[in-house]
Amino acid sequence: MAAITMRALTKVFPGGVRALDALDLAVADGEFFALLGPSGCGKTTLLRTVAGLESATSGTVRIGDRDVTRLPPGRRDVGMVFQDYALFPHMTVTDNIAYPMRVKKVPREQRHAAAADVAAALGLDGLLARRPGELSGGQQQRVALARAMAARPRVFLLDEPLSNLDARLRLEARTFLRKLQGELGVTTVFVTHDQAEALAMADRIAVMEAGRIRQIGTPSEVFCRPANLFVASFIGSTPMNLLDARVRGERVVAAGATLPLPDEARGRVTDEEPVVYGVRPEYLDYSGTPVDGAFCGQVAVVENLGVASLVTLDVAGTLVHVVVGEGHEPRPGGRGWAVPRPGRVLLYRDGELVNE
Ligand code: ADP
Ligand code: MG
Repeated sequence: MAAITMRALTKVFPGGVRALDALDLAVADGEFFALLGPSGCGKTTLLRTVAGLESATSGTVRIGDRDVTRLPPGRRDVGMVFQDYALFPHMTVTDNIAYPMRVKKVPREQRHAAAADVAAALGLDGLLARRPGELSGGQQQRVALARAMAARPRVFLLDEPLSNLDARLRLEARTFLRKLQGELGVTTVFVTHDQAEALAMADRIAVMEAGRIRQIGTPSEVFCRPANLFVASFIGSTPMNLLDARVRGERVVAAGATLPLPDEARGRVTDEEPVVYGVRPEYLDYSGTPVDGAFCGQVAVVENLGVASLVTLDVAGTLVHVVVGEGHEPRPGGRGWAVPRPGRVLLYRDGELVNE
């Protein structure tokens, strides 16, 4: 297995699109690493450049102790799974799985035996003679994984491998893929535009925007302490509250509420400075009766989240979202209070986190 190191990696396409912009990234040996970002930010280009399917305009890619920047794909020792699986429709499951070994001129007997082993590990035993058109989406996805695994690469590159599965199968495939990767211990870069998938699966996440990395961290680091407003608004199943605010001595005023200044922000902001006050809906405690140091407003919307509700308070024209647990029954039109939890408030200045 092997670490992957990218240094100042840049890809400019003919026509001028800068899909990767002097990007630095180090994925540790054996890590399950998620690359997360909106459509068009350069995720696929990054994977294809590591795999050698695109040539870097400048910068370097290392896999283990080898500089692979100028090596052809076949000599990089990577297995890649594409979003659409890219299986050969006219070949059987066995031949699809064995294909990379055929390219490497592994003898027929040997590659068929290896394909059967990997197929068994992925629960594809009974399907070896079928063609892709005779398989379900989930089975096709496993064949694509098997093909990437069969040649025992040092690195797996997975480009949105779950996005063509329906919601239920996607959850199963998450668990399956994570377990498989743990057993094999293969360094894996997993691309997704789905923040929940990245949070659920990855050891670490890099959040990308326009060919650059905006934050790298564990799921809890990027969720609890987004380093900038881009990451703050991209991560989370409910939208983070990001409110225009102003420092007032030891306090901060946001949406008409006067609230304590977060401890870590003391000494880092000046009086009357404009900031953005960030707090996740999960970190506001709801009250149906008046409390101090709270956002107070009219209940505008109540959405059912299953065990909890997402309540939108209209606080003098500013909307504040609160996740409300059992035991409260907020009703549209009534009044509600939302108290920020100490230690969970983030202040941003010029888009960057102040209280790092
Ligand atoms: P993602 O996978 O994050 O959606 P891509 O890596 O596919 O993003 O694309 C990044 C940017 O590069 C986009 O602006 C896209 O239009 C552009 N791009 C991708 N492939 C090519 C190509 N072959 N030629 C020109 N532009 C491309
Ligand atoms: Mg893509």
